[in-house]
Amino acid sequence: MMVFKFGGASVRNANAIRQVANIIRKYPNEKLLIVVSAMGKSTNSLERIVELMWTDRDYHPELKAIRAYHEDVLRELFTPDHPVWNMVADAFASLPKSAVSVDALYDQVVSRGEILSSIIVSEFLLSVGLLVKWIDGRKYIATDSTFREGKVDWTMTQDNIRKLQTVLDEKIILTQGFIGADSDGMTTTLGREGSDYSAAIFAACLDAASLTIWKDVPGVMNADPKRLPDAKVFEELPFREAAEMTYYGASVIHPKTIKPLANKGIPLHVRSFDDPSLPGTIIHETRVEHLPPLIVFKDNQCLVSCTVTDYTFIHEEQLSFIFHSLSELNIKINLMQSSAISFSFCIDFRESKVMKLIGVLASQFEVYYNTGLTLVTIKNYDTPAFETYRKKPGVILEQSSRSTLQVLIRN
Ligand code: ASP
Ligand code: MG
Repeated sequence: MMVFKFGGASVRNANAIRQVANIIRKYPNEKLLIVVSAMGKSTNSLERIVELMWTDRDYHPELKAIRAYHEDVLRELFTPDHPVWNMVADAFASLPKSAVSVDALYDQVVSRGEILSSIIVSEFLLSVGLLVKWIDGRKYIATDSTFREGKVDWTMTQDNIRKLQTVLDEKIILTQGFIGADSDGMTTTLGREGSDYSAAIFAACLDAASLTIWKDVPGVMNADPKRLPDAKVFEELPFREAAEMTYYGASVIHPKTIKPLANKGIPLHVRSFDDPSLPGTIIHETRVEHLPPLIVFKDNQCLVSCTVTDYTFIHEEQLSFIFHSLSELNIKINLMQSSAISFSFCIDFRESKVMKLIGVLASQFEVYYNTGLTLVTIKNYDTPAFETYRKKPGVILEQSSRSTLQVLIRN
């Protein structure tokens, strides 16, 4: 069997949803499980609704807009008397309005994007004659109760998902990415862009022959083509290489996707949604000699420097305090460097979190920070790439190993 994943861009409007059907029709003899994300940018809109709800502000205009967006798609795909209209109306009418915490509310509300898109895509596929069964992913992906960042309970999830084998013998299964449920049945989510991870979980638990992520790019490229127009598509990549590029911030696949697949030796295909005749990229257990330099840009970075002021040198206890503070706030370091009297590190600039961190660190250090920075990672650099990036104007910090160069650039 195979698992397919269609992201938000691949279900963003009526034409995209028709293209999902076209792609599925190319696999008439394959057992398929299909994972879909929320349509277009609807997750961002649902996030704004949560923010408004939680702070007792009027969320109705935003809700009206997202509903109109879904109904526009319905109008193009279905007749006015099709049952999907009621299903969508129910999904909006039953939107939760309160919860024990903002994160719990977030998961109950934001997950609705995936419920809506999966209903719409499933009803459309049925309407064009494809034998599809819609399932509620929350009954299969079991997590703990960490809202917004649910940790998967693999044993339970595996048991649940294995029961789908018999359904697959008869029908194409269609389900949601990104969502699961805790042991109380409360909806949880797996972190933004987590649908790739969901698809990998289904693929791993079903021992799939492969997972294909259909994307709005021709495959995995060695740089973002919007930044570097001569970026090239990789024909193939080793699992390890792909995992590392997601670590450095390549957004083509979610960082958690590779591990479950690599553990089971299940290949991951990244293919063009618009042009399924293209081969795309295959990520699998392989060795590739001479990979071209891989360039990853990570914007919106902040460089924090902690300086000791009393003529002592930075010592391990102070480092331990810094790391502890970072870990308490769940902040990940993207790059770090130390000198005699200061320790500097680069992190994503999430303003309120960073300000909290600086408040904590200021009790022990003089703290400086710069924002608006871009971290560029050049993996498998060659001499021209090494020289080009080191000499970029505005470099304020650089670090290199035998394989990887990182430069932090002021924009
Ligand atoms: N809809 C969710 C998001 O936008 C999950 C996903 O797209 O993977 O983050
Ligand atoms: Mg998405």
